[in-house]
Amino acid sequence: MENIKESEQLKLNDLQLEVRKIEAEKAKEAKIAEHMRQILLLSNPELTEELLEKTPLRYAKALTEFTQGYRDNIESLLRDAIFTCENYKDLIVVQDITFISTCEHHLLPFYGDCVIGYIPKQKILGLSKFPRLVNSLSKKFQLQERLTRDIAEVLNQYLEPEGIVVIMKASHSCMCFRGIKSWDSQTKTLYKLGTLNEKENLQRFMDLVHLK
Ligand SMILES: [Zn+2]
Repeated sequence: MENIKESEQLKLNDLQLEVRKIEAEKAKEAKIAEHMRQILLLSNPELTEELLEKTPLRYAKALTEFTQGYRDNIESLLRDAIFTCENYKDLIVVQDITFISTCEHHLLPFYGDCVIGYIPKQKILGLSKFPRLVNSLSKKFQLQERLTRDIAEVLNQYLEPEGIVVIMKASHSCMCFRGIKSWDSQTKTLYKLGTLNEKENLQRFMDLVHLK
């Protein structure tokens, strides 16, 4: 009986914690919305009611989504999907992982796709976790260079593979739609660790990526 009471109390505590989190999140969004309203007032003297009343909160909610990575817990995201694999010691390539991130210099989106290749030592990761990890690390204010490195370093830390390589290809809104307005330009970044630094392994990885 006591045990049931105790577990009910724990559930209640968890629930209260969750409610407090949601309330704090809502209060933060309301604050962001108010600041956004002020920015809109500064930028346009002919604002409609829609723009002033509803758009700021929509923007705040979008910003919450774009920064979800700061609240994600990578440990719990990956923990249950790391498996032991003794009999496969060759390249594993996951490609066409799409992502959208926010450039920390202009607060504009950059987006594209990502390829991850690794040679396991003992541990492999459930396949769906690759796009989940890329998504989580993308939902921060980022630089493509740092994002590419972060993906490789996190996987290196959790999987301790023989080697790992990450390639990202992205269009940057700040370059396509403003400033130089270079519509078609794309940026590619590559970060590699361990045996993927060896020419032969890197070439095999490239061959697999381009295999039709
Ligand atoms: Zn930028």
